[in-house]
Amino acid sequence: MQANRKSPLEYTVTRSRRKTVALYIRNNSVEVRAPHFVSKREIHDWVHTKADWIEKRLKQQQQKKYERPLIQDGENLLFMGSPKKITVTEGKNQVDESGSQIIISSKKPNDHEINQALLEKWLKQEAQHYIDERCLELATCMQVQDQISMIKYRKTKTKWGHCTSTGILQFNWLIIMAPVEVIDYLLIHELSHLSHMNHSHQFWHRVASFCPDYQQHRKWLNEQGHKISL
Ligand SMILES: [Zn+2]
Repeated sequence: MQANRKSPLEYTVTRSRRKTVALYIRNNSVEVRAPHFVSKREIHDWVHTKADWIEKRLKQQQQKKYERPLIQDGENLLFMGSPKKITVTEGKNQVDESGSQIIISSKKPNDHEINQALLEKWLKQEAQHYIDERCLELATCMQVQDQISMIKYRKTKTKWGHCTSTGILQFNWLIIMAPVEVIDYLLIHELSHLSHMNHSHQFWHRVASFCPDYQQHRKWLNEQGHKISL
């Protein structure tokens, strides 16, 4: 799927007052950010020493793009870590989970935007229902239940969760698609911020004491997180 790229070593250079050279790979393109004092030739040679890595990252990104869920009949979608087959039928606008299927009944089954909106609304409701309860269970176990002032749900581009010093927890409702252990980790992560508003050693120690496998779950989010984005 690299039709627009003649060679893996095509790249753009952005100059700035930075001190080091760095590579950024996004949307099938390679950007080199470099200080003014580094010559074109030096950049060229440096990029070529990274050729294998660049090629590998471009392939990974393409693969991830391919694995992102599509909301249409017959496609698979993760729900609480299990793959479910999407079935779109004509009916009153509603979504139901039945065994290994998620059935989208739509007044306009061919309208992709409506189907997506119906599914998103349903996922958000499911997330709210499950996470409200689970979060309180975990908070009680961690003895921070009195510090929670509110739990909010939002679809955000870059964050799975967020916690404020005033005790407002915010979760990306897309996490309802992740395996339950990963959801638990994300809840424990934000609940641990009620004790440590940073990512210090003490913070991670607290996370680990309630979620010993947290590194595995972080890895899952890193490697599989694209499968729970819509
Ligand atoms: Zn955090």
